[in-house]
Amino acid sequence: MPTVSDTLGRPLRDLRISVTDRCNFRCTYCMPKEVFGRDFHFLPARDLLSFEEIIRLARLFITLGVEKIRITGGEPLVRRDVETLVAMIATLPGLHDLTLTTNGSLLWRKAQALRAAGLQRISVSLDSLDDAVFKAMNDVDFPVALVLDGIEQARAAGLHPIKINVVVKRGMNEHTLVDMARHFRGTGHILRFIEYMDVGTTNGWRLADVVPAAEIIATINAAFALEPLEPNYPGEVARRYRYADGAGEIGVIASVTQPFCGDCTRARLSSDGQLYTCLFATAGHDLRALVRSTAADDDILEGLERIWRRREDRYSQLRTALTPDLSKVEMSRIGG
Ligand code: SF4
Repeated sequence: MPTVSDTLGRPLRDLRISVTDRCNFRCTYCMPKEVFGRDFHFLPARDLLSFEEIIRLARLFITLGVEKIRITGGEPLVRRDVETLVAMIATLPGLHDLTLTTNGSLLWRKAQALRAAGLQRISVSLDSLDDAVFKAMNDVDFPVALVLDGIEQARAAGLHPIKINVVVKRGMNEHTLVDMARHFRGTGHILRFIEYMDVGTTNGWRLADVVPAAEIIATINAAFALEPLEPNYPGEVARRYRYADGAGEIGVIASVTQPFCGDCTRARLSSDGQLYTCLFATAGHDLRALVRSTAADDDILEGLERIWRRREDRYSQLRTALTPDLSKVEMSRIGG
C-alpha cells in the first residue's frame, strides 16, 4: 500500500472517525455540563456525514496508507444503526484493524451486534470503580455496575482485547487507581491510564490537575510490581507495562509529561466531515463539501494527500503555559 508522509516524516496510518458529537455522559474533562447543557446545539442530522459518505472517505484514506480505523464520538453507540456502519467498514479492502471507543453505557445492548458486524476489539472508558467518584466524573449519575455489565457483555460476545481507559485527574480519582488494577488483573482486559489533557477550550484544564504518568506507574508498581514492555508497533500511543507476576498488562498515555508527537500517525474525521490532523487542532479541512460536490475520487485523494504532506502538528511537544488558551476543537467533536 503506498504511503504518504507529513513534514516530519510521519506516515498516515490511523484514522479516527467520529460518528456523532452527542453523548449521554457529561464527563467533566471532556463535555462539562455547564457548556453542553440542555440548550446546547448539537449538529443537526443533515450536517452529519452519511454512512455512505464515511465509507467513501474511509476507502480513500486506506488508499493513502490507513491501516487502522477507530470509531469514536461523542458516544458512538448513540448514533442509530452504528453496527451497520461497522459492518460496512469491516469489509473495506486493505483495512487491518477496526476498533471502537465507548463509554460502555449501551454495550449491554449493542455488544453482540457489534461483534456480528465485524468489530474485533473495543475500548471502554471507566474512570473509577468507586461509584461516587465515577458518577462525579461522568456527571450524569451513571453507575459503575452497568458499565461493568457492558464490559462483560463485550467479553461474552467475543470482543478481544478489551481496553479499559481511565482518565486520571488529581483530586478526582487518583486514589482509586490501585483498586482498578486489582479488579482487572488476571482478566485479560488491558487497563490504560490517561493523563488529563487540555483538549478543547471548555474543561478548565490546569497543569496542577495532571497526575504524571511516572506517578501513576509508581502508584501501581508499589502495589503490583511492573516491568516495561516494548511497543506493539511504531506510533503506539500507550507506554506498556506487564505485571511481573504474569497477571496481565497495563498502559499509560502520557500526552502531557511524555509527548509522543514524533511518531504520531493519526488523522481525525469529525461527524460533520472536517479533517483534523491533531487532537489539539484549532481548525479542520472541510471534506464534507468535497464529498457532496461533483469532485471525483482522484480529486479528493489529491486533496487528502496535500493536507497530510503539509502536516506539521506536534502540539504536545510545543505545549506551554499559553497554548491551553488556543481555540482548539472540542474532543467530543473528534474523539480522543
Ligand atoms: S498532540 Fe497532535 S501531533 Fe502530538 S501526538 Fe497528539 S494528535 Fe499527534
